[in-house]
Amino acid sequence: MYQALYRKWRPRTFDDVVGQSHITDTLKQQVAGDRLSHAYLFTGTRGTGKTTCAKILARAVNCHNPQNGNPCNQCPACLGIENGSILDVLELDAASNNGVDQVRALRDEAVYTPAAVRKRVYIVDEVHMLSTPAFNALLKILEEPPSHLMFILATTELHKVPATIKSRCQQFSFKRILPGQIAQRLDYVARQEGIDLTADGAALLARLADGGLRDALSLLDQCSGGRQRVDEREILDTLGLAGNLETAGLMEQIALHDTAAALETLSRLYANGKDVGSVLSELSSLARDLLLRKTAPQGSAALLTGGYDEATMRNLGEQFSARRLLQILSLLQQATADLARSSNRRTDAELCLIRLCNEELDESLSGLSARIARLEERLAQGVSVQAAAPPAPPASGSAPARRTSAAVKAAPPPPS
Ligand SMILES: [Zn+2]
Repeated sequence: MYQALYRKWRPRTFDDVVGQSHITDTLKQQVAGDRLSHAYLFTGTRGTGKTTCAKILARAVNCHNPQNGNPCNQCPACLGIENGSILDVLELDAASNNGVDQVRALRDEAVYTPAAVRKRVYIVDEVHMLSTPAFNALLKILEEPPSHLMFILATTELHKVPATIKSRCQQFSFKRILPGQIAQRLDYVARQEGIDLTADGAALLARLADGGLRDALSLLDQCSGGRQRVDEREILDTLGLAGNLETAGLMEQIALHDTAAALETLSRLYANGKDVGSVLSELSSLARDLLLRKTAPQGSAALLTGGYDEATMRNLGEQFSARRLLQILSLLQQATADLARSSNRRTDAELCLIRLCNEELDESLSGLSARIARLEERLAQGVSVQAAAPPAPPASGSAPARRTSAAVKAAPPPPS
């Protein structure tokens, strides 16, 4: 039977866990030094390794031959826990067992020493889903835990866990995993699986996974299905993100001040059933990513969100100044907010696009500063201000204005 990649490549020791060394190092030391707590609370977003670490810890504390705090994964205890034949280690999903009865049953059972291993370990996933009576029953055990008992609670929503429970647990918070670390792991898994994953493809999947390694591996699974080569194009197609290229095209039309083409694109997307609000918000997150790449080229990889390929981003990035991106972002934010109470969303979206394509029509401060920036740019290119001075045709769009400046550039310098 085919086994999903994220299950097949689930880490089996603390050393294999990616991006959470602040937690795994501590747990290893606790196991090696036998300084374990009777209750742990693992928090963090999904797919960051909470349940994986809980399973590893359950094996490590019972392992006959732990290796520097890691479970050996070979002794009868490790194997029995892994294949589920040792009932002293129990996993409970609070999302499906939120009743007080299950927790009371746990409480009654908890007093008995474990049958096959050193410690009875209860792993409670999504613990925030427990009902209030169930939390109270759990609290009773946590108040006076027998020495052979260990609880590992995991949650994605810490704020829903009562303070009385939190204060009795050692709390570890799992971080979103950095895209670079995810890409590295994807690359490793792909090589082991004989999948030809390109470096750009790995980086794109890592961005899309938003800090969760499990999601990243599931995406790789989905994109590689039967194929040998997985690149950016393949990923965008498989995940239905090819539509992003429309957004990128729209951004390019804004860069070229091509109002007519931009309106045409919007009208086509509208005809295909796309909501104008989501077009604007996609433009907005694209502008944000472009701005981040420009202002923090080194650190920004961790902050980017979009499903765009590297070549598209580089090409677009070259066409905008940071100031112009700021102006575009503030126009888009304003328009998106106004759209919520608009009576004609399509017209408002069109007006927004027209303003985006013509800085001249944006009378806000950021619009003015974008225009100044453009003038400064022209000055830097050696166009005389005096020559550029003849009054621009009244607000008829920027295309004629551009022709003027091109003509000026070609003309000989005025006699002095
Ligand atoms: Zn072992």
